[in-house]
Amino acid sequence: PYVITTRCVDLKDRACVRECPVDCIYEGARALYVNPEECIDCGACAPVCPNDAIYFDQEVPGALQASIADNAAFFSLP
Ligand code: SF4
Repeated sequence: PYVITTRCVDLKDRACVRECPVDCIYEGARALYVNPEECIDCGACAPVCPNDAIYFDQEVPGALQASIADNAAFFSLP
């Protein structure tokens, strides 16, 4: 699945939410999160993020790796 990294914190532009065809991007208090069980890997969200915050999980930059677990935790997934 795609992952919204910590670059989204306190930004929440929401352009990705408008692009997602399956409405699997949810809003937290300070950031947006992709539900990894609902994402269909279409990639539509990543290019519209103004802060380059969204990556395919296999391609998340090293410094932002913790965001993968953050997304899962938001949905109480292991
Ligand atoms: Fe939604 Fe597609 Fe982005 Fe997954 S990759 S969060 S399905 S827009």
